[in-house]
Amino acid sequence: MPTELEIAFPKLTDRDLAALSARGRVRDVSAGETLYATGDKVIHFYVVLEGEMEVVDGTDNDAPRVGTVGAGQFTGEIGVLSGRAALVTIRAASDGRVVQLDGHELLRAVGELPDLGEVIIKAFICRRDLLLSSGYKGVKIIGSRFSPAAHRLRDFATRNLIPVNWIDLESDAEAEQLLQRFNVSPSETPLVIARSGKHAKNPSIAEFASCAGLTASIEEDHVYDLVVVGAGPAGLAASVYAASEGLDVLTADALAAGGQAGTSARIENYLGFPAGISGKELTQNALVQAQRFGARITVPCAVRSLGLDGGDRVVTLADGTRVRTRCVLVASGVSYRKLDVPRFSDFEGAGIYYAATEMEARLCRGEDVVVIGGGNSAGQAAVFLARGSRWVHLMVRAADLGASMSRYLVDRLEAMDNVSIHLGTRVSALDGDSRLREVRAHDGAGRELAIGTSALFLFIGADANTTWLRGCVELDRNGFVLTGPALPPGTTELERWRLAGRPPFLLETSLPGVFAAGDVRSGSVKRVASAVGEGSQSVTFMHAHIQRPV
Ligand SMILES: Cc1cc2nc3c(=O)[nH]c(=O)nc-3n(C[C@H](O)[C@H](O)[C@H](O)COP(=O)(O)OP(=O)(O)OC[C@H]3O[C@@H](n4cnc5c(N)ncnc54)[C@H](O)[C@@H]3O)c2cc1C
Repeated sequence: MPTELEIAFPKLTDRDLAALSARGRVRDVSAGETLYATGDKVIHFYVVLEGEMEVVDGTDNDAPRVGTVGAGQFTGEIGVLSGRAALVTIRAASDGRVVQLDGHELLRAVGELPDLGEVIIKAFICRRDLLLSSGYKGVKIIGSRFSPAAHRLRDFATRNLIPVNWIDLESDAEAEQLLQRFNVSPSETPLVIARSGKHAKNPSIAEFASCAGLTASIEEDHVYDLVVVGAGPAGLAASVYAASEGLDVLTADALAAGGQAGTSARIENYLGFPAGISGKELTQNALVQAQRFGARITVPCAVRSLGLDGGDRVVTLADGTRVRTRCVLVASGVSYRKLDVPRFSDFEGAGIYYAATEMEARLCRGEDVVVIGGGNSAGQAAVFLARGSRWVHLMVRAADLGASMSRYLVDRLEAMDNVSIHLGTRVSALDGDSRLREVRAHDGAGRELAIGTSALFLFIGADANTTWLRGCVELDRNGFVLTGPALPPGTTELERWRLAGRPPFLLETSLPGVFAAGDVRSGSVKRVASAVGEGSQSVTFMHAHIQRPV
């Protein structure tokens, strides 16, 4: 089996080099020439035919060399597919010759040469993984580990595979020096410093994304075939199928590709993965797959509203940009519910978590943690956290766990010797200072439990993310999107449906050409597989709508 390094830095055969040369532009390079520099938006992919390119960490002349790309090798990592800023500089160490391909030529080559495409895509993914685990110092975040704002930025970075250099206000000596240098007081943190030196105090997610090199390029004058709102499993599946079938796709997500599934520590019931697969791996692969077929995925990109303009659907983004499209897929999922207890908002991001990933597990290693919820997501989180925590307290409102959680999880939890299951229990109070210190609860017998903890994990259900759709498509009384046969009687009598000359398709909303899939859809099964199935299926209906638009 090839090693990680062999996968990340393969040597192409003469046949591969000839095939790529035929699809790009062969040109000479001179020693010292920079092909692209750290912070540049990478628009080209280079394959080295002769000579050697050096990989440099930074842009200064004395920046350290971290590797080389020799004859038969190629530049780039996964950011190339999404047009992210380059993390390293590529400079010719000697005179040489390269094949230069732009983004479209690269995607065409990957599509036309599947074996070579697999080698390139695997290398791209592996290079980003190696970079993230190598201690590569990306954008700096200086803040307190107890600050909700700092947690929000780190969460965004983790979910978007952005390398960060975390500098803890409380324990890193470098923090004070940096705050002094940038004239920032601790109360103005988190401070973010980009590789370019650009800095921002307590930035919004959009400002942080820009510092980290995530830039969206949305064509306002263009009419897309499909705009997908939400890049969870439903949105990603639709993006893969639609782009692979030749539709021009833009997918917008407010936070990160992967949705809720991306935060799942291990998905054990998704077809084809007998040993389970981490949500992050599953959804990152789906993201790359969609990009490989040419779907444009933009993050962070929140959608504010939906409307009609002539024959087009118009999606308005949070920054006011209007995007025109023939079809829309509503795949915006759900948002987590909160506990109705005093001081709840004081501890959001400062001890209260809605996901249990490696990042949260690291924050509470060796400590007692509380997990709330009786569903599979709570069960999975409890099993996962029990590996590193001292003790896991699982609190469930119901008197019986078996009614809402899969049997295999109940069995696993009951067999663990550092997990307590508290049935019939409700949280009554939260306590702490700048961070959570204690969770108090009442059990079924009226006894009070007081658990000293800095981590409370909530898995208590969610509400549909449909405020951006209100007044535009029919929702059920809980705010979930109605589609197909679930639409109110009389829908087909409306003018727009009479013009369409057909009833709404199975996954179509009350507005022709606007579809819904996944958790956000009324009556959907809240599972990854169903979201993927619905997202994929919706594309068939889109083709039919595009052929006979209304
Ligand atoms: C911790 C956890 C573990 C789970 N484990 C499993 C499991 O093991 N097996 C299983 O089958 N299911 C599991 N699930 C459920 C599964 O993850 C969901 O059913 C699935 O993710 C739903 O996919 P979706 O695409 O419909 O929505 P989501 O995954 O919720 O994605 C919706 C996306 O839309 C984006 N969005 C929302 N509003 C907007 C807007 N206005 N503009 C732009 N973007 C927007 C969000 O940022 C999000 O990325 C788990 C869920 C959680 C939370």
